[in-house]
Amino acid sequence: MVSRVIPVDPFDLVIFGGTGDLARRKILPGLYRRFCAGQMPEGARVVGAARTEMDAAGYREMVAEAIREFGGDETCDDLEEFLEKLDYVAIDARGEAGWSELHSLMASRDQIEVYYFSVGPSLFGDLAERLQQWGLAGPDSRIVVEKPFGRDLESAQALNATLARYFDEQQIYRIDHYLGKETVQNLMAVRFGNVLFEPLWNRQYVDHIQITVAETVGVGGRGEYYDKSGAMRDMVQNHLMQLLCLIAMEPPARFDPDAVRDEKLKVIRALDPVLPHHLIRGQYLAEPGQESRYPSYREAVGDPRSRTESFIALKAHISNWRWHGTPFYLRTGKRMIARSSEITVVFKDTPHSIFTEDAGRHRNVLSIRLQPNEGITLGVTIKEPGPGGMRLVDVPLDMTFAEALGPEGGAQVDAYERLIMDVIRGNQTLFMRDDEVEAAWAWTDPIIQGWEARHDVPKPYDSGSTGPTDALELMRRDGREWRKVSP
Ligand code: NAD
Repeated sequence: MVSRVIPVDPFDLVIFGGTGDLARRKILPGLYRRFCAGQMPEGARVVGAARTEMDAAGYREMVAEAIREFGGDETCDDLEEFLEKLDYVAIDARGEAGWSELHSLMASRDQIEVYYFSVGPSLFGDLAERLQQWGLAGPDSRIVVEKPFGRDLESAQALNATLARYFDEQQIYRIDHYLGKETVQNLMAVRFGNVLFEPLWNRQYVDHIQITVAETVGVGGRGEYYDKSGAMRDMVQNHLMQLLCLIAMEPPARFDPDAVRDEKLKVIRALDPVLPHHLIRGQYLAEPGQESRYPSYREAVGDPRSRTESFIALKAHISNWRWHGTPFYLRTGKRMIARSSEITVVFKDTPHSIFTEDAGRHRNVLSIRLQPNEGITLGVTIKEPGPGGMRLVDVPLDMTFAEALGPEGGAQVDAYERLIMDVIRGNQTLFMRDDEVEAAWAWTDPIIQGWEARHDVPKPYDSGSTGPTDALELMRRDGREWRKVSP
């Protein structure tokens, strides 16, 4: 099955921070892949805008190198043609340098304008203000803003208020690249496009739900930034929360941006506070024998007394009719045994087993895998083939997209490129609305304040493990087990 490429209208995309790490690793290689797929229309233009002094030729060279390094295999031979679409302006978000040049570049262009703020959030207000001052943004212009969107409710509200001074909510695209993943959208297709799952999708049939986002990397060079943030702010408040919303939300009346986001918001607002004994925080230890290459968390951030968590596991409850009493276990961490992101829906036992004890007892498990090997697997119980009586065995009904859709399948599209194309189409479904972000912080803040008031110290855990042993206990004492973290 070949995925269809639906061209978008001609656009001008200005990337503030166009020389930065995110632009080089994700945004520009992603745009190039969309170009190779034939999705970038004639007349589309990408303007890098950053502090570094260079001309358009220098920028094209930098982008060509980034594409060679990060472009992946899905490339084409027309790199030169893509590079011709690029321009560059050296600009200062906080000063006057470069703005008149950007203004001349954008003048008399009558096509969709997107301004991507791939810079730190402290510059969002300056950029928004200057875009308006210079008459660069009209009512149809869009801005894309990166995470982190605040570090608590107060700062998120301030950021929203600043942006709202210059742009309408319909023009603001708060990006969470987890929402751009093929599987995340497939989760909605599976839930709401089939009659099979939705009747079972509730407290009566679901025993519990697990969401794991495990990384093998440590904090690397981001130590200073990360230590002010931690796993709760960096991962749970945004990525895991978004996944939880899509799993738990009611079916929206229509698949349109506000209908979907209204339902997600209701989930966040129905989340109970997390009890202190339902929360485990951890910090990774150094890799024995390789301490200089793989130092401990505290060494990596340069603070031997740091209390910031590089791992968190928690049990959440949603107080509504659908989910009352069904636990949602979330965990995420760095330097874990494998890189793996997975949502697992574990269904309840059959009400009564007609088989003898030695047939074994089995549960249906729906596993939604975001990375690696995006796909959805449903574990069903069948008879073990062959003679020897009735023994039960679990087999996976595998919906791995790479196989189901072939090498041309849409699963190859990176989250960033999909989301950028959505911005150009003006589709906000996969972007967070202001009230969603604020509600997520309103749930997160008291949890963080709680552990700060208790002077909680994260538990150490071995590099290459699944986190502190207490995290295993969090489920074991409920008679449950975490899924294996496997690559
Ligand atoms: P970076 O430090 O590599 O790049 C920053 C960019 O901003 C550079 O192009 C720099 O020239 C530009 N810049 C800085 N000050 C400026 C000013 N006064 N005027 C104009 N341009 C200025 O940062 P990054 O890693 O690319 O991250 C950019 C944003 O994206 C940050 O908010 C970050 O939190 C977020 N983000 C990054 C990643 C990632 O993987 N790198 C992932 C998610 C979110």
